[in-house]
Amino acid sequence: MKTCNSRRAIRIAIILAVQIGLTASIVAQNNTFASPAIDARVEALLRQMTLDEKIAQLNQITTGYATGPGGITNNHDELLAAGKIGSLFNANTALQTNTYQKIAVEKSRLHIPVLFGLDVIHGFRTIFPVPLGLAATWDLDVIERAARVAAEEASRQGVRWTFSPMVDITRDARWGRIIEGAGEDPYLGSLVARAYVRGYQGNSLHDPSSILACVKHFVGYGAAESGRDYNSTEIPERLLRQVYLPPFHAAVDEGAATVMSGFNALNEVPSSANPFTLTAILRKEWGFQGFVVSDYGSLHEVMAHGIANDESTAARKALLAGVDMDMEGHVYLPHLAALVHSGAVPEERVNDAVRHILRIKFALGLFDTPYVPAASEDQSAPTPAYRALARQAAEESLVLLKNDPVDGHPVLPLQISKGGHLAVIGPLGDSAEDMIGSWAAVGRGQDAISLRAALQERAGQNQFEIRYAQGADFIGASTGGVSEALDDAQWADVIVMALGERALATGEGSARTDLNLPSGQQELLEKITAVGKPVVLVLFSGRPLTIAWAGAHVPAILEAWFPGIEAGPALVRILFGDANPAGRLTASFPRAVGQEPIYYNALSTGRPLASPDEPLAPDFGNRYFSRYIDEKASPLYPFGYGLSYTTFHYSNIHVSASKISASALNRGGSSLTVSADVSNMGARAGIETAQLYIRLRGTSVARPVRELKGFERVPLAPGQSRHVEFHLGGKELRFWNIDMKEIAEPATLTVWIAPDSASGLSQEVEITE
Ligand code: BGC
Repeated sequence: MKTCNSRRAIRIAIILAVQIGLTASIVAQNNTFASPAIDARVEALLRQMTLDEKIAQLNQITTGYATGPGGITNNHDELLAAGKIGSLFNANTALQTNTYQKIAVEKSRLHIPVLFGLDVIHGFRTIFPVPLGLAATWDLDVIERAARVAAEEASRQGVRWTFSPMVDITRDARWGRIIEGAGEDPYLGSLVARAYVRGYQGNSLHDPSSILACVKHFVGYGAAESGRDYNSTEIPERLLRQVYLPPFHAAVDEGAATVMSGFNALNEVPSSANPFTLTAILRKEWGFQGFVVSDYGSLHEVMAHGIANDESTAARKALLAGVDMDMEGHVYLPHLAALVHSGAVPEERVNDAVRHILRIKFALGLFDTPYVPAASEDQSAPTPAYRALARQAAEESLVLLKNDPVDGHPVLPLQISKGGHLAVIGPLGDSAEDMIGSWAAVGRGQDAISLRAALQERAGQNQFEIRYAQGADFIGASTGGVSEALDDAQWADVIVMALGERALATGEGSARTDLNLPSGQQELLEKITAVGKPVVLVLFSGRPLTIAWAGAHVPAILEAWFPGIEAGPALVRILFGDANPAGRLTASFPRAVGQEPIYYNALSTGRPLASPDEPLAPDFGNRYFSRYIDEKASPLYPFGYGLSYTTFHYSNIHVSASKISASALNRGGSSLTVSADVSNMGARAGIETAQLYIRLRGTSVARPVRELKGFERVPLAPGQSRHVEFHLGGKELRFWNIDMKEIAEPATLTVWIAPDSASGLSQEVEITE
């Protein structure tokens, strides 16, 4: 007995010596998680692992609750003690993570810590605007700081891995998950992806406040046919490389430690068993050193896709394609050992997957510090500093879509005199719970401030009166409440209507075939507008909605997305002009759902209309163009669009040369400078987002009518002008040509410096041989 114990003690000592190593020498710097020192520790540990212990590292299961179909495993403790779990997700308090970790570290044979993951999508406890709203800030610094706050809060609870950012490019607002991404543009999407990665991962993964980013869903999931969630995608390789891959590549380049494979079949191959994307591109072309996790159950779903008739085949195909960790698919743990024994899967492939995962666990410092200090349930509220950032982000995310004059003055900012009357009408006016969106980690409605609550406070300060009426249900036809709302409207000097989608109608599994306001809310809007008072529509949504009626009849419209816990204060500051709206759309607003997918960076077609809004002639004489007979071809509000309480003027566009050479661009030795002046013509300070677009003509393949290649947020005092300057080099001017080579070609280049994707000043430049 004694001998046995001392042998065990020696064995543990050896294992711990290997695992703890010389901490100082293995600290991962700047996310170089593949350092030689870490790799030495990984190899030493790997040599001690049995095949079963290796396979266990590839197994991830949920705790507590499910974020996908099917039941949940309840015997975590047993599995952890038996060393059968590499990662757990959905545990979210220090108490939970420490408890599970203790079992893994103390009871399993090799004492390997588990990695805790969670969907920290737009904040952990401090909830920021939903990602589509955050993207609408075009403020990369704010996005990075929001991700850092999320990392600090999550890591304190032992959550060292977030399944974010979602960098799926989305051109179709029917897809509910458009809310989780940065919209339709690969250039902006890439910069946003990098900002999240920097925020989550910080300067070093070894910093206890850093969490792993997970870029998802690799790849093409956002192109789900007809917007129906989980639907298949057909994306030719050029489009894939040009539009869908760049944000992933950017995130990997920024050091993202993990990548999640998608649910969708891409060109008939399920993304979670796709060797072309997961191995040829991600590992070999891009040199990705982290690990790939599947999506929830997506390895099991390889069978439903029809490329495996049993779990074992699904496991084999997925692992060989490049998925390292099985999230809730339950196919690796039961089948990989037999597959290795039969020779169907080389053990070296399992070893590699384990290496990828252990490397990250070492880089995070989990072996040295598996626990977090807090031991009890954390009920703390967001700190004032975090709230301040949440408010700034919310304010910057709001997009002013329309602000027409009524009686000679724009409706916004509101000017309500002492004793005046403000009516707030609509189901989203007083719903704190909806303000935090549909995927708010451990965010709580109780921490969110509704529009009504914040307006009430302002009414107290400014001594005006306020009334609130819900007026309509969230969905469905109106079921009463309209008459109270009409009374309030009659009483009011000005009306703020808070309408839109409820948070739960957005996100995963929330595809829509209709993008209108729910019928009861539309009816309410029409009735209230008919009263004839100035109306401001504050629109809450996780996607572009079809608001053509409002666009034509309501004088002021403010797109609010789901702004997070500081919704009310941010909205009030914008509505009353304490802050000037500066958000810009990152997804086109269609006029009608039948225009979807609609996006600004489309190809021209052979029959473009001279103006996309050219009306159909009464005799249909101009019908043979790329158009609709019942609607304009343009979006209601284009990509990049957003108004301010001041106006901006662009002048003096200038290009540094009238010719540049393609071969010099390809050698990386040349660039073009494009500049212009932007002036604030009004009496208020404001921020303009100057956008640089290009078009290439005369190339071997057709290029989009416009592509974003730069932008700058320009703060401008009243009357102030600034010179903005952008550089276009090989990186911006190369594209995948007819031979699938990424090069610059001779072409006619049009450049625009513009306030949005549908206007601006332009110049032409020849790209010569
Ligand atoms: C989603 C992922 C998410 C995962 C874990 C899946 O249903 O597609 O985005 O990270 O669940 O919750």
